[in-house]
Amino acid sequence: MTAAALARVLGPRLTITVVESSEIGIIGVGEATIPAIAQFNKMLRIDEDDFLRRTQGTFKLGIEFTDWYRRGHTYMHAFGPIGRDLAYVPFHHYWLRDQAQGTAGSLWDYSFNWLAAKQARFSRVERIADTPLAGLTWAFHFDASLYAAYLAGFAQDMGVRRIDGLIAGVQLDPESGDVRALKLADGRELAADFFVDCTGFRGLLIEQALQTGYENWSHWLPCDRAIAVPSARSGPLLPYTRATALEAGWQWRIPLQHRTGNGHVYCSAHTSDERARELLLANLDSQPLAEPRPLRFTTGRRRLLWNRNVVCIGLASGFLEPLESTSIHLIQVTIQRLILLFPHHGEVEERRREFNRAAIAEYDYIRDFIILHYYANERQGEPFWDACRNMPLPDSLRHKIELFRETAGIFCATEDLFQLNSWLQVLWGQGVRPRATHPFVESIAPHDRAGYLRDLRGLISQAVQQLPSQADFIARHCAAHSTSAA
Ligand SMILES: Cc1cc2nc3c(=O)[nH]c(=O)nc-3n(C[C@H](O)[C@H](O)[C@H](O)COP(=O)(O)OP(=O)(O)OC[C@H]3O[C@@H](n4cnc5c(N)ncnc54)[C@H](O)[C@@H]3O)c2cc1C
Repeated sequence: MTAAALARVLGPRLTITVVESSEIGIIGVGEATIPAIAQFNKMLRIDEDDFLRRTQGTFKLGIEFTDWYRRGHTYMHAFGPIGRDLAYVPFHHYWLRDQAQGTAGSLWDYSFNWLAAKQARFSRVERIADTPLAGLTWAFHFDASLYAAYLAGFAQDMGVRRIDGLIAGVQLDPESGDVRALKLADGRELAADFFVDCTGFRGLLIEQALQTGYENWSHWLPCDRAIAVPSARSGPLLPYTRATALEAGWQWRIPLQHRTGNGHVYCSAHTSDERARELLLANLDSQPLAEPRPLRFTTGRRRLLWNRNVVCIGLASGFLEPLESTSIHLIQVTIQRLILLFPHHGEVEERRREFNRAAIAEYDYIRDFIILHYYANERQGEPFWDACRNMPLPDSLRHKIELFRETAGIFCATEDLFQLNSWLQVLWGQGVRPRATHPFVESIAPHDRAGYLRDLRGLISQAVQQLPSQADFIARHCAAHSTSAA
């Protein structure tokens, strides 16, 4: 992704070399994304249908959370708007008022994405016809290895040189302390002005050579292992990811055209590897297609994402578990920031400062959002979940929860990837309840408010009936050649 984007935007001004090792390979998990990925592909001028065909991709309208708040309870973090704001006051205040009186539907009845997702329908609808209401907002599920291969070809066509070699050493400039060159195992030496460390968890340049330091967030996000396995396609092709809470972690289910991706993220202090594997396999809805693959990680981020003449991107920069599909997004926005602040001339200190400020804020807000899913649970009597419910929170998250509890207020900084509708769905879905709503709501007569809610719901529900199934849409527009999506 980094080489492709740099080549596309800054290509003629840069000589870009990618070094990767087929001996080591890539981590190869990471199949669910959020809607902004479409902008990245657009920037590369990649055709969406072609991309889906080549990566066995499907559409994603949200993430369903099962058993998180308590066993038997399900909600969705659907992308896109919920309802429609009136005046300065967000929609949910009106809804909360009527919901308390029993005259409104569920929060998700006002989400076009949710209704389409639950009926397994999809089409590229930008607006609901003849209304001011937005259409669907989508991301993708895709095979990460196929995407990497697709972009590798793309980058090489744009002039990027690729070396398959093992980096055996990193040379620092004795005076400045900057990275000067990479030494390959075959004796080659590669000098450069600037390095992007995409070496995964190893952080070969940013950590092993520059010793940047890592902020460990295990006390807030204690899951530290995962076990992943693909399984055969089964059932209708659902346009959403499913995240099911288990006894000491959770399991993902990601439907692709040719198979389903599954994995169990868990906390090794609360369960064993054997038990994690057993639960994963027991919860598959079809035959496993490979031996389950174990992975280990430490949640957190580098203290700096740009240190000296090295920027780290991807797993080299840190790790947040895939609960909200944020890793590939973090790669994308870090690339975007690097392009905007690129050190093409002169002093770079201010650019480096701004880069680190924004990147750190962004990581920290996502961390808070993910913690919320764990913290606000009512799975009483289960040691892992009891510990999560009783953990001390980061101040920034405590503040967000309290604001919502006081008067249903949700306020998000620009670096906060997840904005009002995302926080609302997870706060509400995880059982956090406000004590009051905004007073402006009272200035609309109850029957007008009820009519407004009823109309919104009716328009959304009618619009969903016009959509084809996702399977039909894919078969018509972007089916991978070897697959039938039906
Ligand atoms: C369990 C799990 C589930 C995930 N699910 C999602 C998800 O649903 N959505 C999402 O957005 N993200 C997800 N991610 C994250 C996603 O997998 C990564 O962000 C993405 O794959 C990018 O990885 P990377 O390129 O940073 O690292 P890697 O894939 O590990 O690549 C590292 C590269 O560095 C090279 N390298 C390393 N050392 C050397 C060396 N010494 N010499 C030469 N080359 C070297 C390797 O060959 C490789 O090419 C998940 C991660 C995990 C662990």
